[in-house]
Amino acid sequence: MNASREDLKGTVVQWADRIGVKVREIHLRQMERKWASISMKGRLTLNTDLLNLPEALTEYVIVHELVHLLVPNHGKLFKSFMSAYLPDWEERQDRLRSLY
Ligand SMILES: [Zn+2]
Repeated sequence: MNASREDLKGTVVQWADRIGVKVREIHLRQMERKWASISMKGRLTLNTDLLNLPEALTEYVIVHELVHLLVPNHGKLFKSFMSAYLPDWEERQDRLRSLY
């Protein structure tokens, strides 16, 4: 069963709370060549294609974007936050990449 927009937003709110970051706006729209983006001001945009992905992959995408509010790049610190919040994030990332 596909996720609903409310499911996605619920996941964002839950994870923002857990990570301790502020998401001010959540937008869902068709995006070219990426799953999501976030601005440092907390404006999160999610690709509507996420609605068709397994929950574990959508969750990975959301956590990835929210961790960018702590660390803007994909360096060591970013990876250690990812491992702390989603220990199997690399596996999820591989699955996501293998889809398309
Ligand atoms: Zn990123």
